[in-house]
Amino acid sequence: MIQQNLSEITMSIQFEKLVNANIANLQPYIPGKPIEELQRELGLDKIIKLASNENPLGSSPLASQAVRACADELSIYPDGSCYNLKLALAKHLQIQAENLTIGNGSDTLFPLIAQCFVPAGQSILISEYSFISYSLTAKIAQANLIQAPTKDYGCDLQAMLDHIQADVRVIFIANPNNPTGTWLCERKLIEFLNELPQNIIVVLDEAYYEYACIQENTYPNSLELLQLYPNLIITRTFSKAYGLAGLRVGYAISHPEVADYLNRVRKPFNVSSAAQVAACAALEDQEFVKQSIEINKQGKQQWYPALEKLELNYLDSPGNFLTVDLQRDAKPVYQDLLQQGVIVRPLANYNMPQHLRISIGLPEENSIAIQALTQSLTSK
Ligand SMILES: *Cc1c(COP(=O)(O)O)cnc(C)c1O
Repeated sequence: MIQQNLSEITMSIQFEKLVNANIANLQPYIPGKPIEELQRELGLDKIIKLASNENPLGSSPLASQAVRACADELSIYPDGSCYNLKLALAKHLQIQAENLTIGNGSDTLFPLIAQCFVPAGQSILISEYSFISYSLTAKIAQANLIQAPTKDYGCDLQAMLDHIQADVRVIFIANPNNPTGTWLCERKLIEFLNELPQNIIVVLDEAYYEYACIQENTYPNSLELLQLYPNLIITRTFSKAYGLAGLRVGYAISHPEVADYLNRVRKPFNVSSAAQVAACAALEDQEFVKQSIEINKQGKQQWYPALEKLELNYLDSPGNFLTVDLQRDAKPVYQDLLQQGVIVRPLANYNMPQHLRISIGLPEENSIAIQALTQSLTSK
């Protein structure tokens, strides 16, 4: 009854005329399909989700312990300054607490950066196939979005430089990029930063930092670069190698003045108590991070030969995912994998309709997913 009445009222109000024009045609972020949703749909017990680059090992038991310990203090507001977490991060990274801005997930830092540094109507520059959060940020901030073309799906820094115009305020670069896995080495990044006017802020999104810096020895030492290029903002997260995606906590490392502005715009209690204590505990457990990196490395060794056997090209990444080129519409294969209880990520919203992004799982999960993919591609 109430529902009927409500829709009658909404018929008389034309919300599409009330909503801001930049929001009216906004395409929301499409997350990986949740396990429980597929379970409801198919009645399957065992579902394997390799769709959101989550840590297949879970998270450190120290983090769970810390969350349990704060479960009796839920009525208290969190520490708005994230004092302990900043202290722990500063020690771990050998920086100052003043360099840090803590976010409710690193993706909440991107709008803060736009709010601080991009006036409406001025430009944000990204590369084609970039992590989709940046274009959403630009639209919500009423900024103009410039997309430079890529080379082999990877960020082409010369093309980025060629697309600089006078009103470009911020550049977002994911290193490595999700979903293409492509990444920039230190030398190329330095060459780029040398060419770039220093009044343009460069956000280096290092969501996969812990994996990438071990896997690739020419991966940039961005903290050192920050000393030379104070226009850099580095973002990292506890969602990937630390396995705390469900708690939402990430951070930016920047010049203290930049951090001061970001912290002015940040909501005072943006990071929950549970997230703060879990992140502190997770930092203590570097052994867990090591294991996560190792299991990821092993998982890739299962996928490479399997994809070669299927004669599939793929974009490798120094992170915890691979992006497979099916050379035909990926949607039926995605659907077929769902029927087999395997969730991966279709990339049509990235304008990559023939690709699927697959997160690296535990050995058994990888085996099942490889089997399902083989079944799907060879049965027709
Ligand atoms: C996963 C991911 C993030 C988001 O991390 P949160 O801290 O969970 O918001 C940011 N950037 C890239 C490139 C990612 O893949």
